[in-house]
Amino acid sequence: MRAEIEKSYRIACLHEIPHYPPCSKEHTHEYEITVNVHAWVIEETGMVMDYNKMDEVINKYANKNLNDIFSIPSVENFALAIADGIIAKLKHYSRVSVTICESENTKVTIVR
Ligand SMILES: [Zn+2]
Repeated sequence: MRAEIEKSYRIACLHEIPHYPPCSKEHTHEYEITVNVHAWVIEETGMVMDYNKMDEVINKYANKNLNDIFSIPSVENFALAIADGIIAKLKHYSRVSVTICESENTKVTIVR
């Protein structure tokens, strides 16, 4: 059986993207992050994924300066890193998508 699970988070991070006026000075974003995983349910656990493992991937970015982690701390690179972090904790998956809302009017979705 396959299933799709989804969990949402809200975390704050600092970042600064030089020469990109809305983000060119260090500031904080309250990122709304939605992780969606479509995969086979693991027979032994009856689950697609342990949410605690998903939490570990997200929580390591909470209250961090993204410039210390990424050479270009764009929301696209951030979403990609989260998707790859989730995939690294899965044995099998069909699709992992990560959507990050950086502001009320902007969001990015990465699908792997
Ligand atoms: Zn920004």
